[in-house]
Amino acid sequence: MAASGKVTTFRLPVLPTIGEIIKLFKLKAAKQLSQNFLLDLRLTDKIVRTAGNLKDAYVCEVGPGPGGISRSILNSGITELLLIEKDSRFIPGLQMLSEAAPGKVRIVNEDILTYTFSEPFPKHLSKNWEDDPPDIHIIGNLPFSVSTPLIIKWLENISNRDGPFSYGRTQMTLTFQKEVAERLTASTASRQRSRLSIMSQHLCSVHKCFTIPGGAFVPKPEVDVTVVHFTPLVEPKIKQPFKLVEKVVQNIFQFRRKFCHHSVQILFPEADRLEKTKQMLMEADVDPTLYPSQLSMFQFKNLCNTYRKMCDEDPDLFAYNYRDELKKKRTDNFKRTRKDY
Ligand code: SAM
Repeated sequence: MAASGKVTTFRLPVLPTIGEIIKLFKLKAAKQLSQNFLLDLRLTDKIVRTAGNLKDAYVCEVGPGPGGISRSILNSGITELLLIEKDSRFIPGLQMLSEAAPGKVRIVNEDILTYTFSEPFPKHLSKNWEDDPPDIHIIGNLPFSVSTPLIIKWLENISNRDGPFSYGRTQMTLTFQKEVAERLTASTASRQRSRLSIMSQHLCSVHKCFTIPGGAFVPKPEVDVTVVHFTPLVEPKIKQPFKLVEKVVQNIFQFRRKFCHHSVQILFPEADRLEKTKQMLMEADVDPTLYPSQLSMFQFKNLCNTYRKMCDEDPDLFAYNYRDELKKKRTDNFKRTRKDY
């Protein structure tokens, strides 16, 4: 509280620019960690505004690097910022930022893919799943090499309501390569409709916010980058375990240029493949001559529910893997040919 009685908003003191931080700590971008930095604070402010009202919020930023987005987060009235950065070269620069915002920043030098979110924020922030999202946000300009496995991991966490989603429907504002963002948000029958579209949209409301041209980053990546906002849904559109939905969706998009009956077939062992495929498509009320990209969320839901029923009737079915059967067949053929010589 200021002497006048007004509530003062925290602002970072004047600090070296992000460009100066990069020079000061000799932070040359490492290609293998997909490092492309944002130096323009108007852009980092825009990303942070996309996350919504962060007043008094607890924020986790993934891959802060030299700290451009972190500065914008700190200037938006948050209570606490948790930074998760894999590359230890950035830690001294982030510590400098932490000293400029006493008591607000926690730095974790870890890989986000293996980091376990075991209560990183106070328990009292938890909300019931059906309530509004908690005051916890995840923000990140993700490395391209990490963004897809990471969003799949977090979607599984949403489905299980664990990890960052043990607090409720934690919102995420993340950057993706433009083409990946288009797949995440693609609607039925669009060219970009893919496994990612179904997996993300059945669990979240997903919005493409804005695109940043590659030229805005240092060094410039080959591609443009899109900011995507995710809010977990109160009710998933497909009420089946994550692994089952993932298996059905992954198999169906295996042959995207063929009618869907081709890819539904590979969910079943060769012995009764045709019969089971016919049964699944009929029970799910899906036209076998639709392409995978033409299937609606409702049709995916029916396919998953029917496959679940068939798995319950045949306990070995879920473990069946088309690729393993193919590999075994090839090995057996190879052995037989050698014996014939
Ligand atoms: N946020 C910064 C910005 O916008 O300028 C840096 C973005 S750069 C594209 C990605 C950052 O993620 C780098 O700092 C990199 O070291 C970090 N990073 C890469 N892989 C990571 C991982 N598995 N876990 C945590 N951080 C990672």
